[in-house]
Amino acid sequence: MNEPFSPMPLRPTTVFLDRDGVINRKMPAGAYVERWEQFEFLPGAIEALSLLRGAAIRTVVVTNQRGVALGRMAIADVDDIHGRMQTALAASAAQCDAVLVCPHDEGSCGCRKPGLGLFVQAQALIPEIDLDRAAVVGDSATDLIAANRLGCPSFLVGDEHALVKILVGHPDLSVAGRAPSLLSVVTDCLGLREPT
Ligand SMILES: [Mg+2]
Ligand SMILES: [Zn+2]
Repeated sequence: MNEPFSPMPLRPTTVFLDRDGVINRKMPAGAYVERWEQFEFLPGAIEALSLLRGAAIRTVVVTNQRGVALGRMAIADVDDIHGRMQTALAASAAQCDAVLVCPHDEGSCGCRKPGLGLFVQAQALIPEIDLDRAAVVGDSATDLIAANRLGCPSFLVGDEHALVKILVGHPDLSVAGRAPSLLSVVTDCLGLREPT
């Protein structure tokens, strides 16, 4: 059985975020967000990132983009999407502190999640990151596995059916919380609120 959900003892100072399915709408299986026109923020995602930024909680996007290895898009296309994403987020004071990408195919690198390479890269880029005060938000088993390897609390985003499937499939993994959206994680699990 998965360990019972328990609130984080302390508010995190860094939140690692998966991208597809957490910040933007995930494409159907086998498809990738190949250009900006296909990138659609999920409801509440911008507000959630703004709340994190307002609370001085560092946000680092860690995303697998295997479509690059498969020739579906170039790394320049991914960079373009992230540049535009950050510009859109900045308009709401919600930009992320870093965006780290694994463009590789399965089994060919150390950075594709659930590997920890992107988290190591993040620490090299931002030495202030304290893994003892970090949390991971994702929507898939790979995010959960990476978080467990890191020893960080993990929060799963998604509909109940998808989340139960992940948890039943990985009874050995612990999860700190689950919610239908990133905004719910930020408000209900981390306790952040819009200043009144
Ligand atoms: Mg995802
Ligand atoms: Zn990689």
